[in-house]
Amino acid sequence: DDRIIAGAEQEADGWQYSLRPRLLNEYIGQTQVKDNLSIFIKAAAARHEALDHVLLFGPPGLGKTTLANIIANELNVNIRVTSGPAIERQGDLAAILTNLGDNDVLFIDEIHRLSKTVEEILYSAMEDFALDIIIGKGPAARSVRLDLPHFTLIGATTRLGAIAAPLRDRFGVQCCLEFYKPEELQFIITRAAEILNVKIDKEGAMEIARRSRGTPRIANRLLKRVRDFAQVLGVEVIDRQLADEALAKLEVDRYGFDRNDRKILTTIVKTFGGGPVGIETIAAAVSEESSTIEDVIEPYLMQQGMLNRTSRGRMATRETYRYLGIPFPENQ
Ligand code: ADP
Repeated sequence: DDRIIAGAEQEADGWQYSLRPRLLNEYIGQTQVKDNLSIFIKAAAARHEALDHVLLFGPPGLGKTTLANIIANELNVNIRVTSGPAIERQGDLAAILTNLGDNDVLFIDEIHRLSKTVEEILYSAMEDFALDIIIGKGPAARSVRLDLPHFTLIGATTRLGAIAAPLRDRFGVQCCLEFYKPEELQFIITRAAEILNVKIDKEGAMEIARRSRGTPRIANRLLKRVRDFAQVLGVEVIDRQLADEALAKLEVDRYGFDRNDRKILTTIVKTFGGGPVGIETIAAAVSEESSTIEDVIEPYLMQQGMLNRTSRGRMATRETYRYLGIPFPENQ
């Protein structure tokens, strides 16, 4: 997914690592999550114990990986970073776990994509800090129990519903990351501009913030593109007008929607009479993966009040009609 407003990480996003806050109090927004975590971190540190396992969920680009690194940093322990699809066999997980130190953090991104066999041995690892591994095949096969260091698993997922209940229940701390407020993104953009050495005024930063889908990764990316426009046009300071012009050229509208969003909304309204319509039907109609719609596109549309999820399918709202400039069918 290479859209400019895609939440998922892209190759050119590498520079954003240098923007990652290192401490909890440098992490903008997500106040409730931060407040809770800071208490759990302090308590675990005072007991010299590993922090309870933490599950972070929310759309891509909201800061889950950043937060996992901060937690390890605040706990003053090492972090090992991997992802669900990267751990293919039980042996891969065993190798990672046995190499951890006491109280270390293991971060598994996209934890909903772990294979069933790997997930099965993860349960006892999380609960008993032990691994039961079968060695050998056929009649010679035997089970061996490996003791593990006490570690903290931090799992990240874009979709809570995709995680099996037994796995979910083993996370003592569960945090839902929310879309950022424009003021918070304005702050993040201003800080990024300093690091990129570009001048931007308050209104310019706010304009980009409003159109970043509540997502820091997108905010940073849009800033970089707007900077290109400023440079080519010979504009010294990015202000609202320049940000507006640049984002219009990038086809990111006032709501932060792009062509894909508009296509989905238009399809629901024009082809399916405003819904309700099933996610698979929408996906087929707009030629997009249903999982992309569910995990990435739809959460922001819902947050903006442009889409309702009902048991019978997705429905357009009064807002959707207003946005598309189509009269709302009052008699429905
Ligand atoms: P996720 O793991 O949820 O996809 P990341 O942790 O990789 O998201 O965050 C993407 C980028 O957004 C980071 O590189 C960082 O620069 C920025 N970022 C995320 N959350 C924050 C925050 N709370 N404050 C400042 N910058 C943030």
